[in-house]
Amino acid sequence: MQTYDVIIIGGGIAGSVCAKFLAQKKLKTLFVEKYKPPRHKPCSGIQFDYFSRLVGEKFPPEKLCRHQLKRIEIYYPDGSTFGAPCSMYNFMRDVFDDYLNQVAQKYGAEFWAECEYVDHEETAGGVTVDLKKDGQGIRAACSYLIDASGLRPVIRKKLRPADFGKGANGGSINYYIEGKADLDPETLYQFWNLDWNNQMFAWVYNKTMEGREYWVVGSGYDRDLKQHCELFLDFVRQKYHLDGEIIKTEGYSSTISFNAAERIWLGQGRLLMIGDAAGLIDMTRGVGMDAAALSGRLAAQAIAAALKQGKPALEEYVKVSRSLVAQTRKNQTQSINRFSSNEELLTHLRKDMAAAGPGMAVQSVLNRFRQPEQLVLLP
Ligand SMILES: Cc1cc2nc3c(=O)[nH]c(=O)nc-3n(C[C@H](O)[C@H](O)[C@H](O)COP(=O)(O)OP(=O)(O)OC[C@H]3O[C@@H](n4cnc5c(N)ncnc54)[C@H](O)[C@@H]3O)c2cc1C
Repeated sequence: MQTYDVIIIGGGIAGSVCAKFLAQKKLKTLFVEKYKPPRHKPCSGIQFDYFSRLVGEKFPPEKLCRHQLKRIEIYYPDGSTFGAPCSMYNFMRDVFDDYLNQVAQKYGAEFWAECEYVDHEETAGGVTVDLKKDGQGIRAACSYLIDASGLRPVIRKKLRPADFGKGANGGSINYYIEGKADLDPETLYQFWNLDWNNQMFAWVYNKTMEGREYWVVGSGYDRDLKQHCELFLDFVRQKYHLDGEIIKTEGYSSTISFNAAERIWLGQGRLLMIGDAAGLIDMTRGVGMDAAALSGRLAAQAIAAALKQGKPALEEYVKVSRSLVAQTRKNQTQSINRFSSNEELLTHLRKDMAAAGPGMAVQSVLNRFRQPEQLVLLP
């Protein structure tokens, strides 16, 4: 049986970043991914500039979309707008995650694609893990097992089935449209309106897929999803003279309960949760990749310290993740599905965005002087 310091289930953002930092600390690390990379993932792939500092890499331009985002335009429920410069990364997750898999391997982590988690058992000094690759069962052992398997986390589901399927979370739909429009490919358009999205904002942006450019129009809802998304698409088609064929429609739904008080959970014993598996996706900020990268990095730091000092890693991981968890918990209470009308939403947005703007500017400046592990996630 092969033995590792750490085995990570999931080769997305959290798993790859964690594997990179563990390997960099010379820990014997295996990370496994169920699908063959580059694998598709429904995700807008938009992130703040500080994301590269969290990952600890300068991203090669060919791993990003042709148009990076330089501006944000916010539409309020009464039709008024607010625009501001805002520099953000824009990438396709299949290309980008494949690149991150390679980065982790470059640092020495072992990667098994098309390999999935089956089961595990905690032993006195570690964990034995049953995996399946090419139809064959493989047993491996490790000191720590990490669940980085996203919003349908396989280990967490086994340990805490009650965290799943409680109440409707709804989902989201993205329409990829090839055609002309009166839209700027370097702008992220956010539309706040309960007729289209009752989780966060509905969105429009430009993406590069296999060398071609597409307008992505998308939204989310906790019920009658298709109906709300189609309504939004009709609005965008009319307002921006978006004329073109839908090349692809992608949908997404989650089983983890976003509003549950116990959504954020970092693990137990020798089992650590990172990224979406830990419940760190933030519907209020509308992002999760930064928290996934940061939690992966913090878990690696905690495990390295624990193995060196002979202390439990979870205790250290909980300690170093305190600010990240507190911010995500606070935002969880700010979800817009508590508003029953667009008038209420508008009042909230006017107040919230007036306060958020200066706060974000201050944190952006302070972030330049912070170590990556101490970065405050925006907005
Ligand atoms: C529609 C949508 C739009 C989004 N847009 C943005 C955005 O613009 N910006 C942003 O920052 N965030 C966005 N997010 C959130 C973001 O996608 C997640 O927060 C982020 O991907 C979390 O990374 P992760 O590594 O934790 O999980 P994932 O990226 O989901 O990676 C988990 C990996 O585990 C693998 N896996 C699953 N089960 C197994 C198994 N049994 N064995 C082995 N491997 C397994 C999966 O195949 C996957 O590759 C969006 C999410 C959605 C749904």
